[in-house]
Amino acid sequence: MARRTITLIPGDGIGPEVAAAAVRVLSATGLDLEWETVPAGAGAIGEHGSPLPDHVLESIRRTKVALKGPTETPVGTGHRSVNVELRKRLDLFANLRPVRSLPGVKSRYEGVDLVVVRENTEDLYSGLEHVVVPGVVESLKIITERASARIARFAFEHARAHGRQRVTAVHKANIMKLSDGLFLECCRAAAKGYPDVRYDEMIVDNASMQLVLDPTRFDVLLLPNLYGDIVSDLCAGLVGGLGMAPGANLGEELAVFEAVHGSAPDIAGKNRANPIALVLSASLMLDHLSEGDAARRVRAAVDAVLSGGEKMTPDLGGTAGTTEVAEAIASHLAGPAGG
Ligand code: ATP
Repeated sequence: MARRTITLIPGDGIGPEVAAAAVRVLSATGLDLEWETVPAGAGAIGEHGSPLPDHVLESIRRTKVALKGPTETPVGTGHRSVNVELRKRLDLFANLRPVRSLPGVKSRYEGVDLVVVRENTEDLYSGLEHVVVPGVVESLKIITERASARIARFAFEHARAHGRQRVTAVHKANIMKLSDGLFLECCRAAAKGYPDVRYDEMIVDNASMQLVLDPTRFDVLLLPNLYGDIVSDLCAGLVGGLGMAPGANLGEELAVFEAVHGSAPDIAGKNRANPIALVLSASLMLDHLSEGDAARRVRAAVDAVLSGGEKMTPDLGGTAGTTEVAEAIASHLAGPAGG
């Protein structure tokens, strides 16, 4: 392929370590990638006065694709969350989080292979909260037909494009009859356009229990923002924890790929962070860039390293460092089996 320029946001905490690991792995794919590194998060405030400087948005609008480490937004400084701002300002309306069992990783389940599709722009993340009278606060849950129909269509399109059989809309419309009711109406309307994909619905509390009982029963989960946030962390826990969970934020034209985990300040700077979540996010990015073959090779190299069982970070019970795991994945990619 021709040279591709990608915006790289190392971020805060373990961000720079896992970002460097992902860049190292991608360099072993042989693709011609150029990284445009821009600062965002708590670390950007000192120099730029904002955790999300304008040139970060400008860079992503130009390159159309970013790989992002976790960012912190210090509480009480008046700055809004970098993630919420990025998703809103770039209209990254879909959050995609594939969850699959990985070889060699201790987990109670085998054969998990599902995708969480989370609406990314509204719901209780609209930031509309106020004090009604002292001692009483109100937080507004915004659900619109436009955003719900768009995410529903996205989920069905994703299912069709990836050979998935079933979309399950997750809701609490028995209580939130109007807001979650509208979300469900939009999901049902979208389902009619995809007769080849099965459609069903599940109340979020029941869905949480069913996921813990048997996650292999699920295929594509379609959720409004808040339930999507909670259920995707739950799903990450089903297959080995946050160190393994990749994600993508997608808009009509722009895309930002990032792991589900946060900046993990407790292990930052210690070469202990598991880089696999961001490496797998980078493989989703390669799929998005129509580099499916390289994407598959990255996933196969991750599987090979995990199956080997030697190069595991402490969260997986091993003693290997972030850099060692990245090197091991990169050498699998560069070796005869990976190349
Ligand atoms: P945020 O609110 O920013 O999402 P958080 O407070 O939910 O962040 P994380 O920063 O994701 O939390 O960390 C939660 C726990 O998981 C911490 O103990 C952290 O060390 C661990 N953790 C997170 N990411 C990783 C990783 N890549 N490798 C190893 N451990 C991780």
